[in-house]
Amino acid sequence: MSHRVLTGPGLTLAAVGLTLASAGLLSPATAGLLSAQQVPTPESFFGYEIGSERSLANWTELTAYYEVLAGASPRVKVDTLGLTTMGQPFVMVTVTSEENQNRLSELHDIQMRLADPRRVSGEEELQELFAAGRTVVLITHGIHSTEVGGSQTAARLLHRLASSNEERVLEILDNVILLDIPSLNPDGTEWVADWYNQWLGTEYEASSLPWLYHYYVGHDNNRDWYAFTQKETQHTVLGAHNAWHPQIVHDIHQMGGSGARIFFPPYIDPIEHNVDPGLISAVNMLGTAMAAELAAQGKTGIVTDAIYDGFTPARSYQHYHGGARILSETASADIATSVNISPSSIGGGRGYDAATASANYPDPWMGGAWGLPDIVDYMDAGAMALLGNAAKNRRYWLENFYRINERAVNGWDAWPTAWVIPADQENETGLAYLLRILRMGDVEVFRASQAFEADGASLPAGTYVIPMNQPYASFAQTLLEVQQYPDLREYPGGPPRRPYDVTAHTLPLLMNVAAIAVEDLEPGVAKVIESTPIETPEFVFRLPEALQGEAAPRIALYKSWREPMEAGWTRWVFDQYELPYDTLKDARVRAGDLRRDYDVILFQGQSPESITSGFESGVVPEPYVGGLGSEGGQALDRFVRDGGRIVAIEDATEYIVDLFDLGVSNAVDRLDPTEFYIPGSILEMRPEPGHPLNEGLPEWVGAWFSRSSRVFEVSDPSVRVTARFSDGNPLRSGWLLGPEYVAGKPAVVEASIGEGSVVLMGFQPNYRAQTVATWPMLFNALAPPADRRPRLDQEDD
Ligand SMILES: [Zn+2]
Repeated sequence: MSHRVLTGPGLTLAAVGLTLASAGLLSPATAGLLSAQQVPTPESFFGYEIGSERSLANWTELTAYYEVLAGASPRVKVDTLGLTTMGQPFVMVTVTSEENQNRLSELHDIQMRLADPRRVSGEEELQELFAAGRTVVLITHGIHSTEVGGSQTAARLLHRLASSNEERVLEILDNVILLDIPSLNPDGTEWVADWYNQWLGTEYEASSLPWLYHYYVGHDNNRDWYAFTQKETQHTVLGAHNAWHPQIVHDIHQMGGSGARIFFPPYIDPIEHNVDPGLISAVNMLGTAMAAELAAQGKTGIVTDAIYDGFTPARSYQHYHGGARILSETASADIATSVNISPSSIGGGRGYDAATASANYPDPWMGGAWGLPDIVDYMDAGAMALLGNAAKNRRYWLENFYRINERAVNGWDAWPTAWVIPADQENETGLAYLLRILRMGDVEVFRASQAFEADGASLPAGTYVIPMNQPYASFAQTLLEVQQYPDLREYPGGPPRRPYDVTAHTLPLLMNVAAIAVEDLEPGVAKVIESTPIETPEFVFRLPEALQGEAAPRIALYKSWREPMEAGWTRWVFDQYELPYDTLKDARVRAGDLRRDYDVILFQGQSPESITSGFESGVVPEPYVGGLGSEGGQALDRFVRDGGRIVAIEDATEYIVDLFDLGVSNAVDRLDPTEFYIPGSILEMRPEPGHPLNEGLPEWVGAWFSRSSRVFEVSDPSVRVTARFSDGNPLRSGWLLGPEYVAGKPAVVEASIGEGSVVLMGFQPNYRAQTVATWPMLFNALAPPADRRPRLDQEDD
């Protein structure tokens, strides 16, 4: 490797852009090589080998270590991209060879030109870029905080890259720029490690954290990759994705513990149809190569082409930004405590059987002990295999990336010429939110500088125009169009094949904003639009007047120790609106006299069993055991009869129905999935005109219906229906089997009880903080001034 001293492996002086003079600035004997003692090991820093059995470093310790690495190794740079929800530093570690670090801005410019083919002047320049660029890889760890292996693996991986002179490491450093986000949720990394260490050695070792490990959204934090509501998502998108447009993104997760040991792509169908085929092929190649490399190391239990699909952009920003998304999922232990899996408990999964060898699972893992050292070992091996491929196939990665972006800049045949969004819309919150999503997603949105004709209609100056020949047009297309989810079955005529996540993400429906696909633009896009894209809009959140001031209702949001993510998303919305509310815990409810402090109590979607019983004794420490119990139920009954109101959503409606013995049931409860199935879709819902709950809503609105949603059957004439799903087939986007079971049925009902009332919403009015269209109904339900309260004493349906 004598040529390394001057130029790095496999590269000529010209290709790396080094002049002899600049090369001469390096010390010829040691360039790129470090002495082993120079960089402190994780063991010397933490006091144990990172990834050891029952040892977890928290975020404070991990970030301190990354500062030490950056101080000791010229290959490492640490940036704080911003602060987390709880105010911790959100960190990105950039690792590459010292030579690359010294000319990082030049390499960055090459990458940004490959990302936008409009900036490349011709074939000669293109070939120079291919020769001189580096593969940019983003690795993200620990978005799901109880999947603790990821954040610990980062320390081991980064130390190795920062210090090792192994040939494979030097090849990676020369050819790859690694952006490593060692925790996508630092708050949770801190909480889970501290909780684990606090209870280590007690009967509560590895017990559940009794609150969401992301302050607002818990496990849903990896479903925020197009709405960009959370700070951690924003930092990652702006500071890593948009700043570098990596060719490869590796997201390190853990899965259940009784099947395969690790998953790599290919993903199973469906892949969302706006994902470039060149990107899908790249994912298939890289995932398969990683699986093969781990197999060659003698690792067993490697599965590909199973479990995880590629449909929702909520989990895959990079699918629409030229980056190959490599999800890995390693089998879990009990946090950092080993488990023993008996061979008889090893079972199936989607797309494979963990007990049986098959083409996509050639070497089953046969059971036995499994712990954090194994997890970190598999994760580290996966990351190194990925980086090795990125280095060895540098030229392929750059060229494939460029071709994907080139196809987008030319516009796909399947796409319209442009999308236009009228500026004059009823829902200013929805409009600002939608435009913010597109701009944060690096979509160029322009304003029309003059009136223009589109498909024969006249549109005024000021209209928003999104030309569909730009690098990230696919992101706009998937979010603006209606989803036609394929009717996939387990076998012909059999039950539906369950999607990994939800099946709809049509922003105009979620946000009640008109967006129109157009083919003919006169006199052509370029002539009618302003020369620079609009700035990214801020959110617009205006609290309804009824919820402000002295007369505003006193609101409480119920918070269980088993808080569902839906409640967390709602806390986020309330906080954005600066809505005053209290957080109501079990003990306060059980203490009674709720009417003294509150007018309205909101129960977000949550199972009746978890509301009543919470955590069982022995599962978590004593202060976190239990739920509302019968005392809490009695206190809520008194609260309503004394004039309070309860608003309950999705499965929590069942708790309220039982509590008050209401004549309301779930019309689709007993249906087989072959008859009725909605795995997260948008249905058309018609609010009853003139009802106070429906103030500010249009004639029909897109309502979010998920697996926990309800369709009501009302048998009590005193229960009033305030909104229904539309007749015929109410599906507007996504997938629905059995429209006849939901068509025309009640979606929202209201009942008077004593002096008070309850409102039951069978659909989800606040799905992942995206359903701007139905927020007015949620706010109306919280603000029931006496003079607006409907008379409920007569039957009207
Ligand atoms: Zn995960």
